[in-house]
Amino acid sequence: MHIIVHNAKCHGHARCWSQAPEIFKLDDDGYILPGNINVAAGNESYASRGARSCPERALEINRSSDTAPVMA
Ligand code: SF4
Repeated sequence: MHIIVHNAKCHGHARCWSQAPEIFKLDDDGYILPGNINVAAGNESYASRGARSCPERALEINRSSDTAPVMA
């Protein structure tokens, strides 16, 4: 499972971080760092809770692969 990060949608609410700070890393202004996030086995529910907490839908859960796609 991985989380696809849509940085353009992030408004810096930090709700993802407040749910799962080990998974969702923010910059100094409270915006999610760029780059998709691979989720380790066992952390899926924890990561899903953080992703679903985003009111901007900036965090897309993808369960189809264990590896995040390479960013262009
Ligand atoms: S909850 Fe969403 S909008 Fe807020 S910091 Fe996280 S990704 Fe960005």
